[in-house]
Amino acid sequence: MSELEEFRILGLSEEMLRAISAKGFETPSPIQKLAIPALLSRTSDLIAQAQTGTGKTAAFGLPLLERLEPVRGAVQALILVPTRELALQVTEELLSFNYKKLSIAPIYGGASMSEQLRRLKRGIDIVVGTPGRILDHIGRETLDLHAMRYLVLDEADEMLNMGFIDDVEAIMSHMPDDRRVMLFSATMPDRVASLAQRYMHETEVLSVPSQQMTAELTDQIYFEVRESDKFDALTRIVDVEPEFYGIVFCRTKVGVDELVSRMLERGYSVEGLHGDVSQAQREQILRKFKRRQVNILVATDVAARGIDVNNLSHVINYSLPQDTESYVHRIGRTGRAGNQGTAITFISPSEFRQFGMLKREVKADIKREQLPSVQDVIAIKRAKLQDDLREVIESGNHTEYQGMAEEILTRYSAPEALSALLRLAFKNELSESHYPEIRSINVDRRGKTRIFMAIGRSDGFDARKLVDLLKRECELPDSKIDDVRLMDRFSFVTVPFNEAERVVRRLNAISRGHHPLAEVARDNRPEGSSGHREEGTERGFRKRKTSENMPRGGTLRGGAERSSRGRSAVSRGRKSSTPKRRGRK
Ligand code: ADP
Ligand code: MG
Repeated sequence: MSELEEFRILGLSEEMLRAISAKGFETPSPIQKLAIPALLSRTSDLIAQAQTGTGKTAAFGLPLLERLEPVRGAVQALILVPTRELALQVTEELLSFNYKKLSIAPIYGGASMSEQLRRLKRGIDIVVGTPGRILDHIGRETLDLHAMRYLVLDEADEMLNMGFIDDVEAIMSHMPDDRRVMLFSATMPDRVASLAQRYMHETEVLSVPSQQMTAELTDQIYFEVRESDKFDALTRIVDVEPEFYGIVFCRTKVGVDELVSRMLERGYSVEGLHGDVSQAQREQILRKFKRRQVNILVATDVAARGIDVNNLSHVINYSLPQDTESYVHRIGRTGRAGNQGTAITFISPSEFRQFGMLKREVKADIKREQLPSVQDVIAIKRAKLQDDLREVIESGNHTEYQGMAEEILTRYSAPEALSALLRLAFKNELSESHYPEIRSINVDRRGKTRIFMAIGRSDGFDARKLVDLLKRECELPDSKIDDVRLMDRFSFVTVPFNEAERVVRRLNAISRGHHPLAEVARDNRPEGSSGHREEGTERGFRKRKTSENMPRGGTLRGGAERSSRGRSAVSRGRKSSTPKRRGRK
């Protein structure tokens, strides 16, 4: 069991190490390294702060489970959490290490009272509860706290906030004075920390700096976009990310409801969560989200608290969070368990100031990027269509329509029939005019050209490697490389207009006659560009390309090669595994 050495030296028992190994943990997280020995071998109260998703539950849970013996009488430990969801999650996590067979139960509002009463009567060693229901039971004298030895406030910043503080104080007044108090939280504002001291005796403070994790695992970017354009901006992002699986944060319930209904109207697979959603609905929604039956969850901060969903590809701040703590909470939901996630923040002009302050406080590098253009979106949708088409044809899964197809072709030409079918299937989704323009906010991108490259994350690239490639192969300085947008199988980058053709040529030269690696993206007019002069120039460039009906760098290749380009360049060189059409129902 030498690989569990790092857990062993924290002072955990062999039985616990076996449970940890069965659970699949390999090394303790930083907060676990700090908190476990403190709780096992010392006696002081504790304030512990570490980012969301860093294993705080086990940090207090493992020592608790080690220190308690099953009595099944009066409650020995109480863990207070702000939501029912969290009560269930924390209980689950504790049960997975429960080698001593302690009695552990969640007690929360909205669940059956009679079942809770039965369990309390039988005796519970560890209660995981929400304050309201706990107070209820204390009032009914069905919950006896006289033997309490440990109190944990999980998400302590929330528990000591206005909404909860009175309940928490009332609960504490029923506990023996020598109970040990432990606070665990992703953030610990000074106000909360000093408030907490009122309930604590000798206090140890442990902290794992938060940006350590956000910076490493979460790519943080922002877009400047008008309030009225946020919706279209969001749809573009979802449309260009075939594997989008994320939470979109709004500040209000109304905001959540409005956004959800607009997205549903457009055919996205989306659900909303906020304080007015009933517990039963909430559980159902979370189940669907976890199973990825819906890939977009729109939520308020409070409703999203404690949702334990791993592997989010995106967190989107549709509106700015109230404060820096909420920002950290929100984006902490991506990049868990070693997965890279992207946190995207929309900033409208009225949010500039608040965002400026937030950026300074978070101390992370939040980069400004350009929204995917309509051309990006359409290129990706077309590529996907080509992929899906090839898949169906290769699978032979279409023969049932053979007769119908032949009949149609007796009446119409093939291009006519196909284009009409495309129109029926996609309405105007593949045509540019269908997409509302998103005007950029005082951004000067004149004289720039967008380049498409048939390489992406699945080829082992990240933004830095891509920039390195451009620097090395095209001898472009950093300053001329802009707005890198990396997707799974392809990417876009903006370079100065007068460099574009050279860059494309260089990149295709190194692809050694395989598929062209790079092409000038179809329509290069920067969105919302008001620079008529440059627009004229770029349009001219574009025209030259489109006049060959081959806008994708076709001029650089011989005719024979061109004829093989029936399919979209975007789709060639892609792996055959097609991402599920998850963005839409
Ligand atoms: P937090 O309370 O800090 O937000 P959680 O306790 O909910 O984080 O843990 C997040 C996830 O990480 C859970 O699925 C948990 O089982 C897992 N986890 C916790 N500690 C470890 C560890 N040492 N190694 C691997 N996974 C861990
Ligand atoms: Mg937690």
